Amino acid sequence: MTLSYAQVLHDVFGYAQFRGPQEAIVEHVGAGGDALVLMPTGGGKSLCYQIPAIARQQAGHGVTVVISPLIALMHDQVGALHEAGVSAAFLNSTLSSDEAYQVEQRMLRGEITLLYAAPERVTTPRFLAQLDSMFERGTLSLFAIDEAHCVSQWGHDFRPEYRALTVLHERYPGVPRMALTATADDLTRADILERLQLQDARAFVSSFDRPNIRYTIVEKKDSTQQLLRFIAREHEGDAGIVYCQSRRKVEDIAQTLVDAGLNALPYHAGLDTKIRQTHQDRFLREEGIVMVATIAFGMGIDKPDVRFVAHLDMPKNIEGYYQETGRAGRDGLSAQAWMAYGLQDMVNQRRMIDESPASEEFKQVMRGKLDALLGLAEASDCRRVRLLAYFGESSTPCGNCDNCLNPPEVWDGTDAARKLLSTIYRIQQMSGISFGAGHLMDIVRGKVTDKVTQYNHASLSTFGIGADFSELQLRGVLRQLIAMGAVTVDAQAFNTLQLTEQARAVLKGEVAVSLRESVSSPAERKSKRNP
Ligand code: ADP
Ligand code: ZN
Repeated sequence: MTLSYAQVLHDVFGYAQFRGPQEAIVEHVGAGGDALVLMPTGGGKSLCYQIPAIARQQAGHGVTVVISPLIALMHDQVGALHEAGVSAAFLNSTLSSDEAYQVEQRMLRGEITLLYAAPERVTTPRFLAQLDSMFERGTLSLFAIDEAHCVSQWGHDFRPEYRALTVLHERYPGVPRMALTATADDLTRADILERLQLQDARAFVSSFDRPNIRYTIVEKKDSTQQLLRFIAREHEGDAGIVYCQSRRKVEDIAQTLVDAGLNALPYHAGLDTKIRQTHQDRFLREEGIVMVATIAFGMGIDKPDVRFVAHLDMPKNIEGYYQETGRAGRDGLSAQAWMAYGLQDMVNQRRMIDESPASEEFKQVMRGKLDALLGLAEASDCRRVRLLAYFGESSTPCGNCDNCLNPPEVWDGTDAARKLLSTIYRIQQMSGISFGAGHLMDIVRGKVTDKVTQYNHASLSTFGIGADFSELQLRGVLRQLIAMGAVTVDAQAFNTLQLTEQARAVLKGEVAVSLRESVSSPAERKSKRNP
């Protein structure tokens, strides 16, 4: 007898109801459709392929292959499936060759419902030959590609092995495929569809909102003290994660927290595997541990009661920030995402991009993404609205972020914004092509450079109209214009600036552009209130 999806949910997993779009996804994939599933962390992606896998196995379609980059996650999932009485197994480097052989034989005999494997494993000739034989016998049921953003170099966690997964579509036509991820902006999303040949797949995009997370971004002064105060005031005894950029800083901060009487542990890729494992286990099992870590920590860690995630350094982009902060409050109870940012962070990140061996095109995209994050950090309005807008979702002020709760002091950047916008417009009109931010700044501030001379841009009526603003101020205004969507940056064309429909409202004075006081005048920073 075959069970309905709802019965599988209930009888196998013990849940009463599907959550959000799960049911629609399960039905679509269960019936053999391709799917792209974008769902925030904790949203319940696993069931989206596990239930179709079980139902399709019962209906005689055979084995589902789950592609996952994380060994720890494979182990957890297979363990949980066994407890639920589902036949599952994994193939990865932790198995001896004899154990791996046993798993392969069971898979070939169709005795496994869900087989988890790392991408580099899936694309070996040996494994493909086994898939071939299952395909020929009609016992290859479904491919689920987890953490699908790893296929995109624009994502924050590019893994070249994912690229080779194109083979699945070419070699096994008709076998349904689904790609799942918790983070993908437009660029990454498009890349996933193209690289995995899922253009015709149905997309299931959940809201990315995590209403129980309160976002706070403070300006760095003495960030260690700021962090200590934040934890002492709001998170005494809570489990949390503190992200730092370097291994050394991880060690230093962990020590500082311990000295301050906190139960803190360091975690980074430079530590001995055993130590890392112990620290991770303690974080998961004990209560109230603060893990101080580089971004090597966190993927696949499913701890429901992480009460705060703090960033002492700015991440590379909004996807990274969102993914890392998303580890807070998976249990749905209130949690906080706290970040200290300083302009120096941006300078460092920019330097890392500039000095990386990547192509110029790639660097341009990375700079654009960094700017978007900076726009979020500098925003004076609702953080959540900004964050969701980045993932293509519109929303209203949340009442639960720092800016909503304590509106910051702002200065009116509307005048500067209009000067920038009209200059972009005039340059475009005069030269018929677009330029980047640097050249725009030079014109607005009235600097005669070679490029200005070459294009005769000193003759523009707006040349020098913004001379009383500093470049820093103008850049801040420009970032806000970009964050508001009034200006777009064409990453494929040397980051040239283009006006959008929204620019009109700013030009007409219908929409104001406000900036945080501190951003506008970094030299005369007032001594501020609490972080
Ligand atoms: P994701 O992979 O999207 O981060 P998971 O698949 O790990 O999320 O699910 C997050 C948690 O939610 C898990 O503990 C899971 O058992 C639980 N969960 C998922 N779907 C449901 C549901 N329909 N009802 C109740 N709990 C669910
Ligand atoms: Zn808000």
